[in-house]
Amino acid sequence: MTEFELIQHFFTQQASPAWLATGVGDDGAVLNADPRQQVVVTDTLLENVHFFANTAAHAVGHKALAVNLSDLAAMGAEPRWITLNLTLPKFDEDWLAGFAKGLYELANAHKVVLIGGDTTRGPLSITITAGGYIPAGSAAICRSGALVGGELCVLGDLGLAALAVQKRQQETVVPEAEAAALDYPHPQVDAGLALHGMAAAAIDVSDGFLADLKHLAEASQLGFKLHGEALALLAPQPDEVGAISLFSGGDDYALLFVTLPGQPAPAWATAVGEAVLGSPDLVLNAGPAWLRSGFDAAYQSAGYRHF
Ligand code: ADP
Ligand code: MG
Repeated sequence: MTEFELIQHFFTQQASPAWLATGVGDDGAVLNADPRQQVVVTDTLLENVHFFANTAAHAVGHKALAVNLSDLAAMGAEPRWITLNLTLPKFDEDWLAGFAKGLYELANAHKVVLIGGDTTRGPLSITITAGGYIPAGSAAICRSGALVGGELCVLGDLGLAALAVQKRQQETVVPEAEAAALDYPHPQVDAGLALHGMAAAAIDVSDGFLADLKHLAEASQLGFKLHGEALALLAPQPDEVGAISLFSGGDDYALLFVTLPGQPAPAWATAVGEAVLGSPDLVLNAGPAWLRSGFDAAYQSAGYRHF
């Protein structure tokens, strides 16, 4: 298969919607104008950095898109289009078929259309860029919008993916729920759209709960008081390892948001804290001893850094 046959075979599987004047096949994609705010996000997955070399191609296809949809969700955007920049070490038809299946299953579930990309040879790397629209009359939800008195809420698992990473590194058995959290993260797209009129700020948890909450606190210039009893119930296991995973484990793609002051936490999320006046510190109140020691350990070294 040539490069062009490969693109034609694997990456032209969707019908063209009305908003797309020209999709895959020309020098560029052409999108009809839309008056709403558009959010554009991008994320790269590198083999041996973002996923283990033996990860199923289907899971890699799912995750490459899921991490981008998670960013759109955290901005309150409805996903619409993606581009795919694929660098492949070799032409492997089985791998490509599995990858495309994982990608398209998630894309079709969200009515997201692949509109273009680039295909090159080299160490396995996948970059997806995604665009999504903010509902008419609303604005994107930023990290910087939190106000004192807002409730801090979480939707999604915290720490499960990090436990899977540890077990894969140690080559021990990974429980199904942990493997699923790592390989098939669930982007909180519907919840992101439900934030309009209810949340003042949001972020998705990709580097770890404390690291990403710190980003939100700094952008909003306030602190957070965390409820230990509520967080203990979210820990993937009730011990210090579980607490460290909860607070500092990456790859969760949970949705973290702060309600508008006076707006209660919605029933579909868990309230885990409150925005307070002051420097962007995160303070843990109450909770069991294992949670508190895990918090102290995690707070020292919050978040994965590439550099
Ligand atoms: P050019 O040489 O003009 O950059 P390419 O040969 O890279 O064009 O790509 C041809 C067409 O195929 C373009 O529309 C491009 O967007 C699309 N394309 C290339 N690779 C991919 C891919 N991995 N997924 C989706 N579309 C792709
Ligand atoms: Mg090209």
